[in-house]
Amino acid sequence: MSSIGAVVDRDFGASSIRASGLHTFLKDQISASPRSAAMVGDATIHSPPKAVRDWSYSASSMTGPGWVLLGDAACFVDPLFSTGVHLAVTAAHIGAAYVVSALSDPDLADEASASFERMYRTQYEHFHELARLFYAGNRSVDSYFWEARRITREQRPPREAFVRAVSGQAAAGYERSVLSRAELPGNFEKALQSARPKNSTADVADVRPRLAAGLALVNTAVLGDGRFERGHVIRGDNRVDLPVSPLIGHLVRHVERHRGTATVSQMARDIAVQNGVPPERVQPPLLEATRLLLRDGVLLAGDH
Ligand SMILES: Cc1cc2nc3c(=O)[nH]c(=O)nc-3n(C[C@H](O)[C@H](O)[C@H](O)COP(=O)(O)OP(=O)(O)OC[C@H]3O[C@@H](n4cnc5c(N)ncnc54)[C@H](O)[C@@H]3O)c2cc1C
Repeated sequence: MSSIGAVVDRDFGASSIRASGLHTFLKDQISASPRSAAMVGDATIHSPPKAVRDWSYSASSMTGPGWVLLGDAACFVDPLFSTGVHLAVTAAHIGAAYVVSALSDPDLADEASASFERMYRTQYEHFHELARLFYAGNRSVDSYFWEARRITREQRPPREAFVRAVSGQAAAGYERSVLSRAELPGNFEKALQSARPKNSTADVADVRPRLAAGLALVNTAVLGDGRFERGHVIRGDNRVDLPVSPLIGHLVRHVERHRGTATVSQMARDIAVQNGVPPERVQPPLLEATRLLLRDGVLLAGDH
């Protein structure tokens, strides 16, 4: 059994369904696509077709005792960006890791469930936000098919321009238009600014870093190689968990404790002594990590 549908323009769909009925409308749509018609062959329709609008939804809970929701069963974002298959495949990957972890290490099951759901919802919410942004950026335009033609600056029929825009194939693609014209999600804008290479060459050994407001080091279930494992992440509202190695975890704990009063090289020395390893082994990775975390806005230097 397969589920088959057609995504169509709202006005066209409404008037055609009024004129010919849902069943005939769906059959006509399938016939209009020779490839789909060949795949369907002479299959029969088992349950009556349904018309749906306002597509986005997410389940209030994605896991429970003995079950896990994946793909469309868990959530779905407006088909604008073709995220359905991406979300389903991603969910299958992290969902399988959750199931493996829950079965092999029941003590970790609750935390693995929370981490799975957090990762999955974060992805869903990013795409949801992107769709919201698209519509918000096109408030004054009657049809996003026409808007897509303007965005891609191509003299193609509006429908074709729309497909090229949302599939990211246009040379002057949709993303650039969002960057230059529409409001950016706060985190994205911050990430862009921090990606500028201003800190990349600075020597960070003497920096006295602080953790950015709202961030904390959290001990939780972290996605490893095909399963969740106990580990650490840097967590904050509205940002993706940032998994960190045990060594970087030590650094962040020191940063949390010293709150801008100790330099990175002092903390590296302390970490080396506490773990009984030579300082020259921990200093280089800690300096490199500090550079990255400063660039990502996770750590702040000086009085920022
Ligand atoms: C018209 C339309 C166009 C779309 N276009 C795109 C697109 O261009 N790009 C994109 O990424 N996504 C698109 N999507 C969304 C995408 O198809 C789904 O998000 C994706 O297929 C979800 O995968 P899934 O595995 O969760 O569910 P499905 O692909 O629906 O798989 C669920 C399967 O379970 C079977 N099943 C159901 N009940 C039972 C049962 N009791 N026992 C056994 N089997 C059962 C069903 O027959 C089905 O084969 C579109 C969706 C629709 C409806």
